[in-house]
Amino acid sequence: MLDDQFHVYDTTLRDGAQQEGLNLTVADKLVIARHLDRLGVGFIEGGWPGAIPKDTEFFRRAATELDLRHATLAAFGSTRKAGVKAADDAQVAALRESRAPVVTLVAKSHDRHVELALRTTLDENLKMIGDTVRHLKEEGQRVFLDAEHFFDGYRSNRDYALECVRTAAEAGADVIALCDTNGGMLPTELGDVITDVLGGTGARLGIHCHDDTGCAVANSLVAVQAGVTHVQGCANGYGERAGNANLFTLVSGLQLKQGHTVLDGEGIREMTRIAHAISEVTNITPDTHRPCGRRRSGWTRTCTSTSTRPRSATTCACSCRTWPAGRRSSSRARNSATTCPGTRRRSAASPTG
Ligand SMILES: [Zn+2]
Repeated sequence: MLDDQFHVYDTTLRDGAQQEGLNLTVADKLVIARHLDRLGVGFIEGGWPGAIPKDTEFFRRAATELDLRHATLAAFGSTRKAGVKAADDAQVAALRESRAPVVTLVAKSHDRHVELALRTTLDENLKMIGDTVRHLKEEGQRVFLDAEHFFDGYRSNRDYALECVRTAAEAGADVIALCDTNGGMLPTELGDVITDVLGGTGARLGIHCHDDTGCAVANSLVAVQAGVTHVQGCANGYGERAGNANLFTLVSGLQLKQGHTVLDGEGIREMTRIAHAISEVTNITPDTHRPCGRRRSGWTRTCTSTSTRPRSATTCACSCRTWPAGRRSSSRARNSATTCPGTRRRSAASPTG
């Protein structure tokens, strides 16, 4: 198992399952969880026990039917209701009773959402965050916090958004994932916000991006470069509206392009097969034009075929960055069996470039 320095957190079974037309049974969820574990993700968010009966059942069955070798199960739920103790909140009780080692709490961090959606005060929302995190920690669960609509909240009221992060961290949350819930961010601005929040709070941060601007993966990669150490995504980019950050594309970028070892288990080499296996469970035809979507010539397959080559290389013709620089200058090498497979495939399959 990888250490705790960097988290790959899958939310296919909770956030991804909100995609229109995607209807997973408990048995489906158990199968997908096994695939994700085989891939080597660190955390699998199983659902929202106490709010969705099927998810309560998932955690009950997972306790005896899932034998995860790499991943840790996480239960998703919200902070306590306003005006009640965390210990007396029925939804918080369901999180405790899920027996999930990790609980990921969703919390409001946008001032207007607190007042208009929760219909409570900004101060009470901070207490809801702190009390719930402390309570679950005292009960022996590890706690992550999803700061919902964080980036909109930051624009509306920076100080309050940062106070939400600070409160969760001081109460004992291990990670505060900043959520681009409406998927409206672009990479440059998102990176600047991450830098500011890290500097202003000192908390360990994660990132959760939706893909409404088509930048969910790019935003997540920028967030890592800015200092987050926990990334969330969904298999095949499932999720409501335009979907969530495609976990497969994201971890490929992290591992193959940026040199982070983020997957345990069979990992990148089995990624395309696992992506298709999950598609068979969801009954959604794989998009073969997506990265990792093609069985024979996806960039993941191309790059993994050379991933054991020295990383001192500059860049090969297929930009996989794993081919030794010296080899490209040699026509003999280019034409030999050791020429980078990415170069060979692309020139053969796509003569117009
Ligand atoms: Zn989401």
